[in-house]
Amino acid sequence: MGVAKPKGTKERILRELEASRSRDKSRFDRAPLPYPKKFDEGIDRFVEAVNVADSGYRRQAREMVEAIDHEQMVKWYDETAQHVGSVRLGMFGGQPGKRSSGGKRDMRTTRVRRIAARDGYLCGYCDIRVIEPEVLRMIDTMLGGGILHKRSTPRNNRSYHGIWLMTAVTLDHIEPLAKNHDDSDGNLVTCCWSCNFGKYHYEIAELRLAPPKKNRGANSNWRGLRYVVESHRNRP
Ligand SMILES: [Zn+2]
Repeated sequence: MGVAKPKGTKERILRELEASRSRDKSRFDRAPLPYPKKFDEGIDRFVEAVNVADSGYRRQAREMVEAIDHEQMVKWYDETAQHVGSVRLGMFGGQPGKRSSGGKRDMRTTRVRRIAARDGYLCGYCDIRVIEPEVLRMIDTMLGGGILHKRSTPRNNRSYHGIWLMTAVTLDHIEPLAKNHDDSDGNLVTCCWSCNFGKYHYEIAELRLAPPKKNRGANSNWRGLRYVVESHRNRP
């Protein structure tokens, strides 16, 4: 199932899940596997760099982004986060329910933006700050290109900067489309790639997850750096 795992991955993830459950139970109960909190510092530094770039100091901003210790993010995403679902299911002794081919989904960028704004650009499972790919691409261009996302073949996780892997927004069907649940806004939540791939096509009850948080837009100052797009557009 899912992405091929190197040998020993399952045992290592199980250990990480157990550690997370005993250390930080409320986060463990809501996210497939909560991201390491130290990644927030990297995101803070990225936001600072974007502000520096937005003020016109683009080379300096690029150096700031290059200085972020993002390898640990790539490694965590690649070796842990995306494989969590089946291991977490096994932790509770569960068997996956029957899966269908999945219904139709609407993942147009306007819909992603609307739901992300509704949810305050925060992942409903792990609370990490998320950013639209359109915004990340624009920031990459501002920084001179090829830093957040390298054009490479084959395209894989290593083509992305850790900041992209950790913050790129997607929408998650809370109850999976692959099990004939619906594609309505009510069944959608703003989600980071880690939680989305970590949750895979399991139901939240199967993974013993609490329902994700939604509708935090009114109480969140974080807007996913949308202002970058606006200020970029208004410039000659
Ligand atoms: Zn998340």
